[in-house]
This record gives sequence, C-alpha cells and structure tokens, in this order.
Amino acid sequence: MNLHEYQAREILRRYGIPVPPGEVASTPAEARAIAERLGGKVVVKAQVHAGGRGKAGGVKLAKTAAEAETHAKAILGMTIKGLTVQKVLIAPAAEIASESYVGIIVDRTSQRPVLMVSPAGGIDIEEVAAKTPEKIHRRAVDPRYGLLSHQAMMLGFALYKDVKQARAAADIMQKLYAAVYGVGASLAEINPLVTTPDGAVQALDAKIAIDDNELERRPDIAALRDVSSEAPEEVAAREAGLTFIKLEGTVGCCVNGAGLAMATMDLVKYYGGEPANFLDIGGSSNPQKVVSALRIITSDPRVKVILFNIFGGITRGDDVANGIVQATREFTLKVPIVIRLTGTNEQLGVEILRKAGFSALTDMDDAVKQAVALLKGRAA
Ligand code: GDP
Ligand code: MN
Repeated sequence: MNLHEYQAREILRRYGIPVPPGEVASTPAEARAIAERLGGKVVVKAQVHAGGRGKAGGVKLAKTAAEAETHAKAILGMTIKGLTVQKVLIAPAAEIASESYVGIIVDRTSQRPVLMVSPAGGIDIEEVAAKTPEKIHRRAVDPRYGLLSHQAMMLGFALYKDVKQARAAADIMQKLYAAVYGVGASLAEINPLVTTPDGAVQALDAKIAIDDNELERRPDIAALRDVSSEAPEEVAAREAGLTFIKLEGTVGCCVNGAGLAMATMDLVKYYGGEPANFLDIGGSSNPQKVVSALRIITSDPRVKVILFNIFGGITRGDDVANGIVQATREFTLKVPIVIRLTGTNEQLGVEILRKAGFSALTDMDDAVKQAVALLKGRAA
C-alpha cells in the first residue's frame, strides 16, 4: 500500500526526522488560506501515488498566497502517470543548498533492509542510478543489530564533508530505519534530503510503501489507505478478496493459486502473448469471486481474450463454472473466453459449462495455445 507524501511526512516527523510543516488542500481557495496562514514563500505539491511529480509540473513554488491559489488550480485535477490529483500539500518553501537521496528498501536478494544514499539526489535520481551507479552507496543492514551508529556515520560522510551535517544525516538514517520497522514499510525514501544555506539538513519529500502483509496488525496504518487515489481495478479486486495485479498485455488471466497464476503468465508469454493481469481467485471456492474477477478483467479495454486456468483442489470446478455462467448473465463478455478446468468436481463443472454453451479443456498447454491463437486471429 502506498502512502501520500503528506502521510509519509507525518510518519517521519513522528520518528523525529526534521520535515517542514505543511497542510493539505483539496480546493484552490483552501490552498490560498493555508498559504496565507504559513506566510512567505510556499511550495504547492500534487499528492498522488506517483514519483516524478516535479518533472510532470506537479510541484510549484509560489511567492504569494494568490500565486499558491493559481498553482493549486493548475495542479488539482491534473493527471500524473494516469492518476488524478485530488489533493495538494502546501508547505513553506525551503531554500536549497544541496539535494541528496536517502532510501531504505527491503531487498529480496540480500534478504535484508538495504540503505541506499547518494549525494546526487533530486529529480534525476533514476538517471544517476542508471548512468553513474558509483554515486549511489549501499549498505545491507543486519536486522539483528539494526543500523549501527558508525555505519550510519559512514553513509553520512558519503553525503556530506561537514561533520555536523554528516552526523545529522546519520541520525536521520537511523530514525528512518526505525520508521521502516515501526510502520511495516517495504520502502521508505527521502528525496531530496536537502541542506539549507544555513547548514541545516531536512527532508523535503517522503515516500513510504507499506508491506500489505503488515496491515492486518497495524490498523492505524491501514486506516491511511486512500481508496480514491488507487487504481479502481485493484480496489475492486481487494474488496472481492482477489489478488490482482494490473499488467500491460491483452490476455486476461483468471487462475486459482499464485503459483499456477505465475506459470500461466509464463506460458502465455512463451506462446507469444502478453498477460493483461495477474489474478489469483484464491483457494476458497465461491462463484461470486469468479463473477468479480470477470468483471474486473473485462473492464480493461485492452483485454482481447480471457483465459481461465483452474486446477481444482480446494477450489471446486462446479463453483468456478457457476461463476462463469452467472457472470455472463450479469454482463456480456465482448471477447472470447478459453477455459481450462480440471480437478475437484471437474465433471460437474464441465457439464454446467456445456449447458451454458461453453466448452472446457483439460490441458493447460492447449488452453494457453488456443488463447494466444484467438488473439492472433487464427485457429489453434
Ligand atoms: P517528486 O518530483 O515527485 O520527487 O517531488 P519532490 O517533492 O521531490 O520535488 C521535486 C523537486 O522540487 C525537488 O527535487 C526540489 O528541487 C524542488 N522542491 C521541492 N520542494 C521544494 C522547496 O521547498 N523549495 C525549493 N526551492 N525547491 C523545492
Ligand atoms: Mn522527490
């Protein structure tokens, strides 16, 4: 789950990291009122779950409250990477002497949290990572001991020559590390971490992604979810109890079990197709889940063929078949559907499908081949 910058800033603040104050507005008039209250120069920042807001015109400095209102008017309603801006953060503008990057990710390869810092922070950090990776310093942290002072200090010196600033940065890194564990984050990033002309070090932007598996035991963090700014299909899938990830292809996949779903996507690609999504209807058996899954898959105009791959264990073939039939009664499928159904209650399922005018295959390979062939307009 992604947090908005203003929520992430609040968490950093709670852990003692210096962050300028700020307030959120959803109308230009509110933005103006906040800017008046703050006084002086402000920065108006789009609150969307996307990076690169600066480059997209979603971060603007304003000298007056009237100017803040104008910027808010332009930024509210703007789309950044497909997401509509519904809120802006108004914060006092900082004067910037330097911009660094500090991030922590839970790294699967080293199976540890990894600190990444760079003195070349700011909006071009992706380019720095791609072209001059030597400017990014990494350190995997042993979770048994946490980020020790001398380790943090070494990373601090990778950012600043000045001892006081290096120490301030080291302190921020240790606090960020504590925040990662405190909120169950899989990623926490400060970019830019700035120095001001008077030498202070502070966080001007914050990005935190929460590991979804942590939400159950952290209701306060789960409550930060902003459904209105998430992809609608992913919201619908979560509410229906489905595991769904939107992808770029044209083969809508509906599978039971995450492993089989992965294998299905591999096979789709092997035969020359591209999956439109990852979707696991889960082990439990429930026709309604299938209806929800089909509704979500067919809401994507890019989907040109639907592929069911069901290997019934706990999932029952008749439940899946009933779900497919029920879905087609509730809405019309505008694209062909290929069904592979085997395992528990296979005979019942196939019979239900046959009566409703569908046919089912038992072999996964055949089903995927047929789906890709339909996509390409030829018979399998
Ligand atoms: P992002 O592009 O989505 O990462 O948004 P950021 O919050 O990181 O802002 C992008 C850039 O805008 C930063 O790298 C800064 O150069 C600039 N910026 C952001 N806040 C301020 C501020 O308070 N003062 C000044 N002078 N520049 C800012
Ligand atoms: Mn940033």
